Amino acid sequence: MTAIHLQNLVKRFGAFTALKTMDLEIRDGEFMALLGPSGCGKSTTMNMIAGMENPSEGRILFDGKDMNGVAMGRRGVGFVFQNYAIFTHMNVYDNLAYGLRMRRLPEGEVDSRVRKIADFLQLSPLLKQPSAKLSVNILQRLAIGRSAIVEPAIFLLDEPLSNVDAAFRAVMRTELKHLQRQFRQTMVYVTHDQLEAMTMADRIAVMDHGVLQQVGTPLEVYNNPDNLFVAGFIGAPGMNLLKGELADSDRGLVVDLAALGRSAPLGPALAAAARSNGSRDIVYGFRPERVSLAPSGEGMTMPVVFVERIGARTVVHLGTDAQRVKAVFDNDVALEAGVSAAIAIEPGSVRLFDAASGHGIR
Ligand code: ATP
Repeated sequence: MTAIHLQNLVKRFGAFTALKTMDLEIRDGEFMALLGPSGCGKSTTMNMIAGMENPSEGRILFDGKDMNGVAMGRRGVGFVFQNYAIFTHMNVYDNLAYGLRMRRLPEGEVDSRVRKIADFLQLSPLLKQPSAKLSVNILQRLAIGRSAIVEPAIFLLDEPLSNVDAAFRAVMRTELKHLQRQFRQTMVYVTHDQLEAMTMADRIAVMDHGVLQQVGTPLEVYNNPDNLFVAGFIGAPGMNLLKGELADSDRGLVVDLAALGRSAPLGPALAAAARSNGSRDIVYGFRPERVSLAPSGEGMTMPVVFVERIGARTVVHLGTDAQRVKAVFDNDVALEAGVSAAIAIEPGSVRLFDAASGHGIR
């Protein structure tokens, strides 16, 4: 296990700055996901940790030791890419054994470690199979096994599940988490899929446009996003984000939601935070999962635009052309497009953001 410390890390490619600045501490044995949309700088960060790219500025420390000038092969990192690197002329067993044989381990130990990892990744029945004939799913499992077997102190995975099918991805999420717990590695996992990050990571570093947006446990980033980007990116669907203006009323401070033709009251803590923030232009946020149907005459009444029934859940799209709102229900609901529905937002689940800066107000 090794702690990784990224200090003021910057990466430029010519005139383009792919990583504007990155400060991040990844703890010993932690599963850290780097999460963000395509092009946000995740792989660039990862490649610098691996030693495939040099930082333009800043430092990378492993357990306090500066990695500047330390070659990739000497950093003690294992790396799995989206495109698995498998020796197709070797069978599964020899692919798994490769890293250990390179380290000249006795064949007896190679054999017991190959069998252990094969067992773990459910590759045991395939050990004698030629790799050239394996499915994409199995190849990716083999690529993970091949890197994991040498038990690197740091394990880097860059979108390892993006080419495999959905059912297999769900299985691998559980297995990778289990693998990391078993081998107690520090794991850095690049993904654009928030579900992968939420289900596996101890903490998530959310990135956008070469800037770290927030670091926290999955529940921290879900419940208390630091800014509008994180609020919209985490969760499926993301948080409802409604443009609003603060206004004083006989109910105290309220948010005027002009596009919906109504205003929403604020609890005392949020009202105080909004007043001290100063700006009147705010964004009123709440999770689609924190909405329930209200008795008519209560809550916010809005037209239903569209109902998505996806088995375990129902996603109801409401509102106007100017302002859509999504509500997610655990079960089916008796709503159809064209009717009106009154929704109530769970007390305590409203989040406010400054419209100009995007920062959370709390
Ligand atoms: P993706 O999932 O699409 O790979 P990412 O978040 O991993 O996204 P990076 O691969 O880190 O993004 O790329 C960040 C930005 O830097 C992108 O705009 C990319 O085009 C650019 N970039 C990456 N490598 C180079 C390079 N060698 N030369 C020039 N630009 C690069």
